[in-house]
Amino acid sequence: MNNIKYYAFPSSVADAMNILLNRKYKALVMAGGTLVGKAIPATAETYLDIRNLPLKDIKVKGGKLVIGAAATFDDIDNSELCREWAGGILSQVASQCSSQLIRNMATIGGNIARPHSFNMFPVVLMCMGAEVMLETKNGKILVPYASLSQNKNLKPGENCIILEVLLPKKTKTQTFEFIKLAKTKSSWESYVTLCFSNEKKNPKFVVGALTPRPFCAVEAEKAFAKGAPAEEILQKFTAAIEAVKVTGYRAEAATNLLRRYLGAE
Ligand SMILES: Cc1cc2nc3c(=O)[nH]c(=O)nc-3n(C[C@H](O)[C@H](O)[C@H](O)COP(=O)(O)OP(=O)(O)OC[C@H]3O[C@@H](n4cnc5c(N)ncnc54)[C@H](O)[C@@H]3O)c2cc1C
Repeated sequence: MNNIKYYAFPSSVADAMNILLNRKYKALVMAGGTLVGKAIPATAETYLDIRNLPLKDIKVKGGKLVIGAAATFDDIDNSELCREWAGGILSQVASQCSSQLIRNMATIGGNIARPHSFNMFPVVLMCMGAEVMLETKNGKILVPYASLSQNKNLKPGENCIILEVLLPKKTKTQTFEFIKLAKTKSSWESYVTLCFSNEKKNPKFVVGALTPRPFCAVEAEKAFAKGAPAEEILQKFTAAIEAVKVTGYRAEAATNLLRRYLGAE
């Protein structure tokens, strides 16, 4: 517990922000507690438990699928809306989380707040072009998920709270493929995670587990979009993986999984 002195249970986002932004408390957001409980920074003095905030809803608003940040993997796995959206990819991902115990506690907000190689939602949300609604000291802001970690002023859990994850309207009828390659189905530590979309105009080949944040194999995507032969696309995909200094079986396996996805076996 290091230096934890206070435990706060706010019931509104406004109250939670007041505690988070008050330097006196040195607060850190805790949702399911599955990650933060394992490594509490020595600087934190207040556990800001957000379980009572109204952030669990999953709904469709303005044509977008909106998932409350405190929705658990289990909520997402069992949500009819998630099961119907984009062929059920989000429920599929949630169901592949290592154990039912973790699925009951772990939230989507906690999964994307900090970079972690093995977290699964970042790969899929990047592939789907998700957005994230945040409560900050200046009010609510909507940012593309892909750029969340690039904004050095936004530190989810330290100076802002993730409220919702939003999936674009067009993704409702799109198809995505998520692949988790791991020693066992219940391993969190994957060799590689992948999410693909072969949309002609905006293909996505996203790679996770090799770096703290997932990345897009941009040159391979461009080659696919212009109708290049499969071997050229695969070469560019391997190059993207080698660019993050990953070689050997993980690079080979990832490329073979894309090869299979493209039907180029
Ligand atoms: C044994 C084990 C197995 C696991 N297996 C998997 C797996 O198979 N797949 C997978 O993807 N992950 C897995 N995880 C990782 C972890 O469970 C997930 O990352 C989970 O989603 C974290 O959510 P949480 O609600 O528990 O976050 P917490 O632990 O409460 O918080 C994690 C971080 O996010 C911040 N945070 C949480 N919610 C918010 C919010 N709304 N706004 C701003 N900041 C926030 C916290 O401040 C903290 O820094 C596993 C973890 C363990 C311990």
